Order: sequence, then C-alpha cells, then structure tokens
Amino acid sequence: MIVFDEGMLMQFPQFGIEIPLADTRVLKVLEHIPQEFLTPLQEEITQADIERVHTHEYCERLLHSDTENALITTYELMFEGQNSHYFHPEKASKPLKELLPAIFKNASASYQVGKMAIECQKAYALGGGMHHAFPHRGRGFCPIHDVAIALRRLQAEEKIKTAWIIDVDAHKGDGTALIFHNNPQIIDLSIHMKRGWPLNGQIPQDELELVQIPAQIDIPIEENENYLENLSRGLEQLRSQSQKPDICYIIHGADPFIEDELPSSQNIQLSLEDIKKRDEIIHNFLQIQSIPQAYVMGGGYGQKVYQVYLSFLHQFFTKN
Ligand SMILES: [Zn+2]
Repeated sequence: MIVFDEGMLMQFPQFGIEIPLADTRVLKVLEHIPQEFLTPLQEEITQADIERVHTHEYCERLLHSDTENALITTYELMFEGQNSHYFHPEKASKPLKELLPAIFKNASASYQVGKMAIECQKAYALGGGMHHAFPHRGRGFCPIHDVAIALRRLQAEEKIKTAWIIDVDAHKGDGTALIFHNNPQIIDLSIHMKRGWPLNGQIPQDELELVQIPAQIDIPIEENENYLENLSRGLEQLRSQSQKPDICYIIHGADPFIEDELPSSQNIQLSLEDIKKRDEIIHNFLQIQSIPQAYVMGGGYGQKVYQVYLSFLHQFFTKN
C-alpha cells in the first residue's frame, strides 16, 4: 500500500522557501495512481520517539525554543548571515515554525510503512527519507532522521530486531552512517556521488569528520561508472556479511535521474531506463529473500522526477 496524507505536503513556497523539492512529484503520482492503492496516515510519532535518535537539546530547540533558527540551518536558508537564494521571507504567507506538522507527518508515515511492511511485505510512503539529519542538528533539507526514528521505535516495540537500510539517493546518507556506525543490528548501504555535497561541499568545519564516516557498505560512484554493477555487488555484500534482517528500508531517491534539477546532484545522471533497472534489482533482491520492504522517497528535485516514482509504483504497487 501507498501511504499519503495531505498534511505530508511540505508546501515550501508558502514559507518563502524556494528549494526545488517540489510537492509536484507527489501530486503527479497521485494523479496517476488509482485511489484503491492509497492508504491514509494513521500513526503518529512523538517527541519521545525523536529522542531515541536526536539529542534532547536539539529536540527542545527544534520543537520548542528555537524552531525558526533550527529550520533556517536545516534548509540552508542563510549563508554567513545572508539570505540564500532559497529563502524569500517577504513572499511567505506562513511562519517557518508551521512547517513542523508536515515534518512530523512525514516521519509518522515512515514509521507506518515499516509497520505495514512487517504485516504485508511492502509499503511506500509518499514522503520521508531525511537521511542527512545528525543527532544534534538538522541539515541538507533534513530536520529529523525519520527512518532512524522509525527503526528505533520498531525495535522498542519489539516488532523488529534487525534491519537493512538501502539508500540510493544521489547524496551520501551521512546522517544514517553517523547514527548506525558500527551497529551490528542495523546495516546501512549507501550508493552515492563520490564527489559533491556532502563529501566535499560547503560543510561547517566541525562536520568535516562526521560526513566522512562511511556507511557500513559504502559505494561512492564516480560519474555513472558501472552504477548497476556496483549496486549489485553491494547488495551481494549485504547478503553475505549479515543475517537476513527483519525489515529493509529503501531511501528511494530520484535525484540520480538525469532530469533531476538540483545542481548538487549532477554527478550521477542515470537514464530512466537505468533507474528502472536500479529499482527492479533492489525490489527483486529483497522479494526473493522475503524481506519486508519499506520505501520512503528521499530526494528528487524539479518537475520531471515524478517519472521515477510513478514508474516504480506502477510496476510494483498497483498490481494485486
Ligand atoms: Zn539527495
């Protein structure tokens, strides 16, 4: 099933934010997916869930005492005291702190797809995948690490013990790598651009070491070089070096797609055909092992990335 709630739409322009993470990608998918395959959002995450991953200090700041500044840092709305090109507060019709409910709903959906996947093998959230968030701060358009929050809650509820995270977003899942570094129960695979943000982007000095922590299976890609072969090899490594997990989250980034419009995701440019192969390889790899699959969208920028999501959902989520 595909989890969606209108409250998950970020509606960035209403806040004066002009990052190209457009709700269009979700709206276009909704136009083409029959209603019967959608399911409403029913779960809700709490501050206690968030604090299994993030520091209490950061949660207090983000949720209560300094929401606006925590979000300004997260969405890169200021650089060295200047407004960045992403932020036009004069165009905003709502205060930044009103983004919080949508952030919570996205994280709640990420938890819900995990729970549903355990019950019925696979589920897809039309949102989520905030893989850059660090325990002590939000960054890279990611205020909280929804997938880590979901996994820790599923563990706390004893619904799972072990998990894999397969992250195919163009950017390295550096928040995930930091959170689950050396964790034998949760193994992360990240296939990402070798060059570019965050690995050699504009990073605050105190983060340089943190972004270098490798995913447990870390696959940096130079341009498009042997993308699918490298992915397949990484998956085999995942299978051979760990036990079959109770669940796998897939951070289903569409930003490796050649039509993605974010300047910082241009170092991998896969055709739609290759992206379809990527998704099929992962889906079949997990299905063959009967591992529950929980999907979140990750990054995907501009007007055409919906094609990536739509073709995947058509192929694997709209057939009974
Ligand atoms: Zn990305």
